[in-house]
Amino acid sequence: MPVTRRGFLGGLASAAVVPRLAATPSPLPAGGPPAPDRFDPWIEVLPDAMRHNLRLLSRLAGGRPVMAVIKNNAYGLGLTEAARILEPMPEVVGLAVVKTAEALALRDAGVSKPVLLLALAAETDGPELVRRGVQLSLCTDEAPRLAAEAGRRAGQRAQVQVDIDTGMNRVGIQYHTALPVLREIAGLPLDVRGTFTGFTEDRAFDREQLRRLREVAAAAERDGYRPGPLHAASSDAVFNYPESALDLIRPGISLFGAYPSNEGNEAAIATLQPAFRLRARVVRVEQLRPGDGVSYGRNFVAERPTWIATLPVGHTDGVPRRSVDGARVLIGERTYAVIGAVSASHTIVALGDEPTARVGDVGTLVGPDHSDIHPNAVATATGMSVYDILMHLSPTLPKTVL
Ligand SMILES: *Cc1c(COP(=O)(O)O)cnc(C)c1O
Repeated sequence: MPVTRRGFLGGLASAAVVPRLAATPSPLPAGGPPAPDRFDPWIEVLPDAMRHNLRLLSRLAGGRPVMAVIKNNAYGLGLTEAARILEPMPEVVGLAVVKTAEALALRDAGVSKPVLLLALAAETDGPELVRRGVQLSLCTDEAPRLAAEAGRRAGQRAQVQVDIDTGMNRVGIQYHTALPVLREIAGLPLDVRGTFTGFTEDRAFDREQLRRLREVAAAAERDGYRPGPLHAASSDAVFNYPESALDLIRPGISLFGAYPSNEGNEAAIATLQPAFRLRARVVRVEQLRPGDGVSYGRNFVAERPTWIATLPVGHTDGVPRRSVDGARVLIGERTYAVIGAVSASHTIVALGDEPTARVGDVGTLVGPDHSDIHPNAVATATGMSVYDILMHLSPTLPKTVL
């Protein structure tokens, strides 16, 4: 199975659907730094890197505006933290999320730019979403009627964007039966703010999908439908199919500094900067004797005296279990191999013949500081999709915005 394909949308639901006032539940006040000597792991968010990536993507797309996709807790980096960094940028024309709770959390956080909900709104949520100016996706054949009804109950027109399914067969209005639905939309009291599709990221087929979107939008326009801005390009297309940029681009993962695939040549096209670090402090340094094993399963057994260091961060925090297959941790200037097993709350690295780390030293598991810990390097080492490396970061990790 190609690891770049997205198996992530379902698995994250439990982490992202949280009470709306706590979109990034945290044991610490939002944005507050951990105590300087605390051993809890944390995420550092790097606003300059995020802004660099956004400007770079817009430039790659010929200066087009950006609908910044910050769904699923901003791919693990913190929904409101990312919104505060990105919203003020002139290139950003809106923020897109997939969960209703996140759309409302953005408004609660004071976001005033357009917020697009890339999901079907429940009938009970509709009126509040409309009143709070959240753009609803018309992503099923019933959605236009539901959105109009939500607007009627809210006492104002619903802002909507029309999601055309051009071949993904996930959500959206099927392009080949869309024409009567688009005519219906034109006749309903709806404020259409855009028409979009999502690519399958099958290179040859993306072209056919773009053709289908353009064709159905043009045909509907002849019948009085006003499509608004057309858009299709997520990160992959911004790099690999620039002709699909249309009126605006809709990147997600690349905003946070990860290339959408591990085997592509995106890094040769433009240099993204990882916009976060996953960090924890060394809690113990020990010397193994020959024959000593490490962690559950004793998958690592020392052949000679070997220094090891333990970091109190594990798979519950988002460290892939498969980090033992080749992921490395930066401590000081050097990176060290993860050994033994990643347990719920602990990761152990081999230092080698010398005790080159000390208790309290900061270890970085993912970040911009060394090529070994670039998000795509971690994805490659663990055989995982880079989307999982980011989106599996626990929403309970405290965030420090630098
Ligand atoms: C997630 C998503 C995006 C962004 O995709 P990336 O690959 O992260 O850039 C864009 N559009 C839709 C509809 C999405 O669900």
